[in-house]
Amino acid sequence: MVERLVRHLQVPSNKAPNLEQRSTDDTLGWEKDSAKGELAKVLGQMATLQHRLLAEAQQSLLIVLQGRDASGKDGLVRHVMTGMNPSGVKVTNFKVPAGSEKMHDYLWRCHAACPARGEIGVWNRSHYEDILVPRVKNLVPEEVWRQRYRHVRDFEQMLVDEGTRVLKFYLHVSHDVQRQRLQKRVDNPESGWKHDPSDLSDRELWPKYGQAYEELLKETSRADAPWFVIPADNKWVRDLAVAKIVLAELQDMNPQFPKPPPGLKGLKIV
Ligand code: AMP
Ligand code: MG
Repeated sequence: MVERLVRHLQVPSNKAPNLEQRSTDDTLGWEKDSAKGELAKVLGQMATLQHRLLAEAQQSLLIVLQGRDASGKDGLVRHVMTGMNPSGVKVTNFKVPAGSEKMHDYLWRCHAACPARGEIGVWNRSHYEDILVPRVKNLVPEEVWRQRYRHVRDFEQMLVDEGTRVLKFYLHVSHDVQRQRLQKRVDNPESGWKHDPSDLSDRELWPKYGQAYEELLKETSRADAPWFVIPADNKWVRDLAVAKIVLAELQDMNPQFPKPPPGLKGLKIV
């Protein structure tokens, strides 16, 4: 039942998510062998609804992905978002702000990346980096990053009020799984290019990022723009959990094909 899954993984408003107590390797009662078939089924249903969403061109869905390095944000985009029609999916990878991004407020580039009516936006990192990174690395005074909780709540509420659903996923991995994945990256000549020395300095700041995420999820999870903590040590669990929650949202949005123009009945194309 997706309601049970949602209840289990969603961070309630104003409640500490207790990340340390939340399992990173929970299998949510699923079996790996059957998960692949189940994911394919869910992706098929997502694709059907996305087709309608795009045709309807009234509502939008924004999916925010956050998590530590190697938590699987890229893999999730590859495995879960690929079944949909790329015309209606807009994936944005947010990197360290550069060029004109630095010359504007931090929400400027985010607003520009929001999905248009009918589209699904997927953000690989997001405006939440503008709270986490300055806090953990002491880049700005506390009052500057702290007031951003209020900004992002208001910004997301505005999007919701104007017809965008917002779902936010924190991919929760253990310290050891991050180590294994970063090591694998370095050892494999085909993934060495992904290695970023800043991943290692961020890994040294593991507890600080943990505290920052703990507070951030509490401050910004809202019934209308909820955070979900996804156990992400197992990629197959991560993919299926996110896919099921996204599918349930699309079903709730219930997009409809627009009515055809009048005069189609009996029309013969010559
Ligand atoms: P990756 O997603 O691993 O390719 O790397 C992107 C890097 O950009 C990460 O280290 C992020 O923390 C960093 N980043 C993204 N957005 C921001 C931001 N708004 N402020 C500071 N760093 C950011
Ligand atoms: Mg990185």
